[in-house]
Amino acid sequence: MNIINVGYLSTNYYAIDIRGGKLLVDCGWPGTLPQFSAELKRKGISIQEIQYLLVTHFHPDHAGMTQELKKLGVKHILLDVQVDFILQMTEFFKTKSHPYLPITTNDSIRLKVEESRNFLARLGLSGEIIHTPGHSDDSVSLILDDGFAFTGDLPPIFVLPESDTVSRASWDKIRKHPIKTIFPGHGK
Ligand SMILES: [Zn+2]
Repeated sequence: MNIINVGYLSTNYYAIDIRGGKLLVDCGWPGTLPQFSAELKRKGISIQEIQYLLVTHFHPDHAGMTQELKKLGVKHILLDVQVDFILQMTEFFKTKSHPYLPITTNDSIRLKVEESRNFLARLGLSGEIIHTPGHSDDSVSLILDDGFAFTGDLPPIFVLPESDTVSRASWDKIRKHPIKTIFPGHGK
């Protein structure tokens, strides 16, 4: 399993080998395509290799560049539990000066979490996408059967207050899988 961190500006983005290309987990702030391309080049990846994008949640540092990548031909995987949250990010950018391109959803690949295992299998990946709210209600995690979990900004278990039952329930869901390595949205 080849997983490469192509992150920059303190957020991790992961390029995962799939059949005939790569799946990108999360993407950067609007207008940072040059930085992203430079980072890819540094890691020996061409942008044309990125076939699919999965966004763990619709916050600016994880999804800001979604539409820019779609314009380059990257296919965006949109989970049913995430659809309503795109609008919140669009609203956020209305008051900012970022060169944000609003995300169109009609041309994204719409997927229910229950369908994710079959979908990933078609990409040559064995695993599933699960709903893991906590940091935000639209947060999802990519779980690979090889023991890898991409958890976005779900707070690490060791910093979770007892009262954060939503995040705790998400970790319980993740731990139902035999996870060896966590790939978080920030940090190591
Ligand atoms: Zn983040």
